[in-house]
Formats: sequence, C-alpha cells, structure tokens
Amino acid sequence: PAPAPVPTTLDAETLWRQDRDHFVHPFTDFSVFHDKGCELITDAEGIHVQDIHGNRFIDGIAGLWCVNVGHGRAEIGQAMAEQATRMAYFSTFNNLSNAPATRLAAKLAELAPAHLNHVFYSCGGSTANDATIRLVHYYFNRLGKPNKKRILSRHNAYHGTTYLAASLTGIESNNWEFDTLDGLVTHLSEANLYRRPEGMDEAQYCDHLVAELEATIAEIGADNIAAFIAEPIMGAGGVLVAPRGYHARMQEVLRAHDILYIADEVVTGFGRLGHIFASEAVFDTQPDVINLAKGLSSGYAPLGATLISDRLYEVLGTPQGKGGVLSTGFTYSGHPVSCAAALKNIEILEREELCANVREVGPYLEQALATLSRHPTVGDVRGSHFMMCIENVADKDTKALFPVDARVGDRVAFEAQQRGLIIRPVGHLNVISPPLIWTRDTVDEAVAILDEALAATAESLRRDGYL
Ligand code: PMP
Repeated sequence: PAPAPVPTTLDAETLWRQDRDHFVHPFTDFSVFHDKGCELITDAEGIHVQDIHGNRFIDGIAGLWCVNVGHGRAEIGQAMAEQATRMAYFSTFNNLSNAPATRLAAKLAELAPAHLNHVFYSCGGSTANDATIRLVHYYFNRLGKPNKKRILSRHNAYHGTTYLAASLTGIESNNWEFDTLDGLVTHLSEANLYRRPEGMDEAQYCDHLVAELEATIAEIGADNIAAFIAEPIMGAGGVLVAPRGYHARMQEVLRAHDILYIADEVVTGFGRLGHIFASEAVFDTQPDVINLAKGLSSGYAPLGATLISDRLYEVLGTPQGKGGVLSTGFTYSGHPVSCAAALKNIEILEREELCANVREVGPYLEQALATLSRHPTVGDVRGSHFMMCIENVADKDTKALFPVDARVGDRVAFEAQQRGLIIRPVGHLNVISPPLIWTRDTVDEAVAILDEALAATAESLRRDGYL
C-alpha cells in the first residue's frame, strides 16, 4: 500500500534510536536487530495495524495469537478506564477481593466444562503454567504422595519462559544457552503427522505415541509422575495437529495411573478453534486443569488463569496439613483492570458470536491456504480454523529443510509484509493466526498476498543459490 503521511506526533527517528539503544526485546536475533532496529507499530483498528511511517497491514497473527476480538475496541478501553479510575488495584491475598476478578471467575466457571469451577489468576501464560505445576505438586504433597513430582511434556511444546515454564517447553532452540530445571520434566515425542515415521498411517501413529506414553510411565513409575501437560494443538512448535483420538487416548492412560492432565489452552482458548475451550468440544478430553491467557483478555491487558477441577480444589482449598494457607500467588493475581478487560472481551466474543464466525470462516481459510501447496517450497499447510501454519522445505519429496542461514521463514514474512500482510516467521515455518473477526473477504485478500509472497520468496531463494 502507498505510504500515508508520517505522523507528526511521534518522532520516528528518535524512537527508533531509543529502542535500539535501550529496549532489550524478547525472542530477538541481535545479529540482525542491531542493524535493522525496530519496527514501531503505532495504531491498530479492527483487522489492521499501522506502523509509524503510516504503512497499513492486515494483522495475520492477532498481535501474538492473542487479539482475538480485533484491535481498537473502545468499549474494552472504557471498561479498563472506568475500573482504573474507580479502583485500579488492591490486594487479593487472604480474603480481599475485587468485583471484576470475582465476576470473571464465575463467568469462567460458567463457560468451562462442568467439572472446572475454580480459578487461580496469574499474569500471563508462563505464570499460569508455572503456578499450575506448583499447585499440582502441592496437591500431591497434601495427599501424602510427595514422590509424584515428574511432569510429562512433549518435544516442541511451548509453555512459556519462566524458569519452570521454560523447563516444560520442548523447543530446543528456545533454550539454547539457557539452563532448565534438572529432573523435573520428561519430554515425550511431539505428535507430528507430517514428519511421522515412514510407513505409519494416522491410526498406527496414534498407537505408537500412546505406547510411548505407556512405556515412559512404566519406566519412571506412576508413583513418581504428577502430571502431563499439552497444548491441544501445539502452537509455537509448529501448529502440530495430533492424530485423531490422540488426546482422549492419552488421557485414558493418564487417568488409569492417577496422573493429572493439564491442557495449556493459552492459544486454543477463547475461540481460535471455534469454541471457547477446545479441550472438551474439539478433543473430547476432560482436563484436570485448563490454563488460559492471551485470548482471555484479547491482549488488552496482561492476564493468565488456571481453571481447576472440583477434585483438585477439594484438596487445595480445604484446611489441612500445616494450616491450610495456600502460600502462592502474584501481586497482580486477579488484577481488577485486567479482569475488567477480560469480562468485556468475553461479552464481545459472545455478542458477536465470534466462535461461530471461526467455525464458518475457519474451514474456508484452511482450504484457501491449502492451495498454496503448489509453490515449490511449501512442504505442508496445516492447522485448524484460525490456527494455521506453512512449513517451508527445500525438497518436497525428502522434506529436507533449507539451511538455517537461508532464513526462509523470515523471507516469506518479509515478502508478505511488503505486500501488506503481517504473518509470523518461526524458524522455517510461517504461522497465520488471525483475529477472530477475519471474514471470507479477508481470507481472499490475505491468501492472494501470500501467493505472491511465496512466488517472490522462491525467486529470492533461487537468486541466492538455495533453490
Ligand atoms: N503456553 C502457550 C501454549 C503459549 O503459546 C504461550 C505464549 N505464546 C505461553 C504458554 C506463554 O504465555 P506468556 O507469553 O503470556 O507467558
């Protein structure tokens, strides 16, 4: 799009310099950043965002899989402003409380599967997962099973970056040159249909993964395992949709061994797959815990939540042992302004029937993206509804990857952005996770841009000798 006039209220160059000199960005490659600096996003409305130079883009990633209701919702801003003006913050420790946190807890209990009626608040996804593991350990300690400590996670899982959440995370490159906790987590194989062992059909692959779980439990001993944590669809690890029946069968095995099932619905929650919660509606599981963040407040304010089953709450929430003090929580657990944002966000999701929109437009998006498979570098197009991914490969037959220095994901994202669409590069992958207000027309526009971007990428890879 033709650049609009540069806004006069923000000094683009000063900000660019200040950012480069002082802002340590998360998940940033400094070999590129020092030269390139930041891209300042200054405005956002509906499905669009705009940078400081006035360039307007379609948001293909909902901020960071979180702005589910779309940008510029004045009514969320108003709800936050009203709460901040009336009572911006007060403690929720002990018996102190605030109305938005209370209302939101009741609303979440109403929306969640029937057995999940209790909410522990945190500040985002990492802290929700971190708090959950502490609560799960506490639960088994109270039950007199202090050896049940080990957590089963999966390779390529993403659960956050606090020390504990990073230890749950199974994306190797995320932990390069970082440390993780020793002896706490065992990573099982990820469920990756595209790269499953040669010769297995989907059902056999599912059997294979369930058998691995059974073998792992036999090896470690169920008495030493507290919980299994899984994203219903793995997100940052490559939008990996498990084989049919996988989650329910995993849960069956876990139940038989008294191992808790934690669903990390930080991305899948609040409509991305067409339902407020995917666990029960899409995957036929009844997790003991569901963790939420992102779409819970659509990113308008930081917020995380752990939904706890009645069975767990009976043990966590009753006085026993050393006096019944649940000594964990954050200053901002149940922050009133964040909870006010979440309540308004949920009101919008329900009023505008955005889950129904995702159920209607999602399959259309899946089909439209599938047409991109004709490009020579597109090895796989996968995902479900508004959680999609393109896997770029150097050779479709062997599924061989481009060398890392080809930066193929960056190339595709760059070419798309040049044409007015922001998607997310993750290594050799490109993620598309739009706000839930995308229509069929938006899909058409975005996929036309991606079509051109992939053609331009192939050309640039050829020019540089990678293809
Ligand atoms: N769990 C999942 C599945 C996530 O995708 C993320 C963030 N992308 C997190 C947890 C961590 O959330 P946060 O960045 O809010 O700490």
